[in-house]
Amino acid sequence: MKKALKDFDFKNKKVLVRVDFNVPLDGDQVTDDTRIEAALPTIRFLMNEDAKVILMSHLGRPGGKVVKEYKLDPVADRLADLLGKEVYKTDESIGREVEEAIEKMDDGDVLLLENTRFHPGEKGNDPEYAKALAGLADVFVNDAFGAAHRAHASTTGVAEHLPAIAGFLIQRELEALGRATDNPEKPYTAIIGGAKVSDKMDVIKNIIPRADYLLLGGGIANTFLLAKGLEVGDSLVEEDRVELAKEIMDEAAVKGIEVILPEDVVVAKEFKADSEYKVVDVKQVPKGWQILDSGGPKTLEKYKDIIKKSKTVTWNGPIGVFEMDQFAKGTMELAKALAESDAYSVVGGGESAAAIKKAGVESDISHVSTGGGASLQFFEGKPLPGIEALDDLEE
Ligand code: ADP
Ligand code: MG
Repeated sequence: MKKALKDFDFKNKKVLVRVDFNVPLDGDQVTDDTRIEAALPTIRFLMNEDAKVILMSHLGRPGGKVVKEYKLDPVADRLADLLGKEVYKTDESIGREVEEAIEKMDDGDVLLLENTRFHPGEKGNDPEYAKALAGLADVFVNDAFGAAHRAHASTTGVAEHLPAIAGFLIQRELEALGRATDNPEKPYTAIIGGAKVSDKMDVIKNIIPRADYLLLGGGIANTFLLAKGLEVGDSLVEEDRVELAKEIMDEAAVKGIEVILPEDVVVAKEFKADSEYKVVDVKQVPKGWQILDSGGPKTLEKYKDIIKKSKTVTWNGPIGVFEMDQFAKGTMELAKALAESDAYSVVGGGESAAAIKKAGVESDISHVSTGGGASLQFFEGKPLPGIEALDDLEE
């Protein structure tokens, strides 16, 4: 167990809080403030505890130098609107200007430092930069689940110099992802799709010992179809993972787990939104065509039945190119089936979360992770450095 907000007395303390404000911008407008919203409980809690709240985040990939489009000023404005309170903002993340601004803060005030990735020391976890950040405060709170898989100065570096505590969002993510993967209520079904075949292979390997059903779809399913000796035309595959796919299916069979592959699929002539397309049996993918949606009617019926009888379902990776409406059906239908089921349901992965949003069923899913890469790494069973660096709760 990691030390939580309730385990520390924040009164009158300067608290450095790592949040994930890596939001999409259009000019100086925040176009989606989901991530800012997700950090509000921790920020409000600290304000109410009479702490001085010093926030830091990265935004985009400025590459260790100042890039005007990635300044955090629009984020500070939106945060101020959401909090109904002034948010101070500095043009640097460390140094004199920052120290002076912090001097002027009252208890309960909120200050946002400039983008940590403007500093070349952030991504390399430079000890000097980490020390300078830590020197601004008395205690560190990490609430940036979306950055927890990165060992950067603002995530792991500062934790070496200050008491380091998990914020509400990180706690909620760990509880939800942990409940679904560590000791899931059975039957447990894992749906795995998406395009990053190698990453997803690691997810499958980690989940096999726990799962009752493994439903594959999307790009990754093609490599498994190939491993079963089927023709997949011009579909996305990773030839050098075919052997691994065979091993995985053998291992699953030994453990009595069903690896379930699509029976009928939507194939397209081209990887294009307006391409010619049709539903075919998976054994009859025409030469030169590619599978862009695993959700043929037979496949969907089978997958929905399995979801219906599951008590826990995790989903990582869309089962089709849902960004194009012609190939979104499978993913949208599965999202709806998950929303209608009584199972404890957890969705992780950047595009998977976007698909859930597109289907409009977010509020009927038990937990949609805010961390794309971080949730993927969690599903792979690999430690998250940003979490490891936090203080353990003494028994
Ligand atoms: P996540 O971000 O949820 O972890 P990935 O990044 O692995 O998922 O993959 C998401 C992408 O996979 C989506 O953008 C989708 O278009 C793509 N995809 C799904 N099915 C296919 C397919 N059959 N062929 C090519 N790309 C696919
Ligand atoms: Mg992705």
